[in-house]
Amino acid sequence: MAGLVIKPRSRIFQGHEWVYSSEILKSFGSPQAGDVITLKDFKDKPLGTAIYNPESQIVARRFSRRRQELDQDFFTRRINQAIKMREDSGLDTSLARLVWSESDGLPGVIIDRYGDHLVLQTLTLSMEQRQGKIIRALVDILSPKSIVIRNESPMRKAEGLEPEIRMGYGDSPAPFEVSAGTITFEVDLSNGQKTGLYLDQLEAYREVAKYAKGKKVLDCFSNQGGFGLFCAQAGAAEVTSLDISEDAIASVKRNAKINNLEINAIADNAFSFLRRCEETYDFIILDPPSFTRNKKTLNDAMRGYKEIHLRGLKLLNNNGILSTFCCSHHATRELFLDNIRSAAVDAHKTLRLLDTHRQGLDHPILPTIPETEYLKGFTFQLLPGR
Ligand code: SAH
Repeated sequence: MAGLVIKPRSRIFQGHEWVYSSEILKSFGSPQAGDVITLKDFKDKPLGTAIYNPESQIVARRFSRRRQELDQDFFTRRINQAIKMREDSGLDTSLARLVWSESDGLPGVIIDRYGDHLVLQTLTLSMEQRQGKIIRALVDILSPKSIVIRNESPMRKAEGLEPEIRMGYGDSPAPFEVSAGTITFEVDLSNGQKTGLYLDQLEAYREVAKYAKGKKVLDCFSNQGGFGLFCAQAGAAEVTSLDISEDAIASVKRNAKINNLEINAIADNAFSFLRRCEETYDFIILDPPSFTRNKKTLNDAMRGYKEIHLRGLKLLNNNGILSTFCCSHHATRELFLDNIRSAAVDAHKTLRLLDTHRQGLDHPILPTIPETEYLKGFTFQLLPGR
């Protein structure tokens, strides 16, 4: 097997699984893009097996500490292990992320399950080249009706891969309903405008809805309405869901109807809505998109969070509750908390923490790969009299 010799003090010696181009001492056996390669330390000691793409800044991603081929058995075994971990954690695996890249030992492979239908993403060249094996494993294990390949992630560009949406197996599914416990969502996997649900927030919907009873709720950046729907079901007095996308708002309306719930759904820019809003609320939920995908734009992103926190806090009634989420890996939990703290100071409000939130267990975190942790959230209440 061809491979790379890694420089001392590289990330991989701290438990990370990635090798950056700057960490290569030399290569041997002329590895080709997409190959499975051996990694060695500078004393010639093997470090395991990795996938290789010299076009990417992350040249190699280790997927085993032993010698391992990417054969059919490997994919079947790893996918089965990923499903078992979720089942053992008590998750409903009929609506869940079944495989999450490095966190399941399959770098660049993401598999989401929506009932009988699967969505596959291959974000690394090596996994893209082995898509057929992944699809075969999925058909053998889960007998899905369809597998949609939704390769739109900007991460593919770094690997030299083009965006692509196509069917990997079966016929393109018409919109269908899936149950997330007590709420039913309509999912449309074939429409180019939409992705499926954000599965990483399923646990947070329930955590947040606990506080909704009798409250006037504003769910900003609502997408298909997850938070608002669970709040309405939990007995909120009134729910407004707001998203900039007309498609998302149409979907909130359909989901409200399916679940026999009342939601006031508005298509608008949350920044301008919060700025000119004259109403106040008992409970505001903020779950914006990642304002930054890299460190360079982190300051701009933090300004965005600060603005919505400040505006949101000002629109809260006495004893009001704010649930706020951040899905950018670069804005750490501490930075994000600092941002809320500073907004509270500027808004002359005192907050107390009711709950903390994180990505669901179907998006497992590897402590040695900080990039696997991205979603965090907090629920605060205004201290009485503030
Ligand atoms: N809370 C949602 C996920 C939010 S994803 C859920 O649980 O499913 C972020 C959403 O913010 C997307 O639906 C996107 O359309 C919307 N969005 C992006 N920019 C926006 C803006 N400026 N104002 C309002 N919505 C925005």
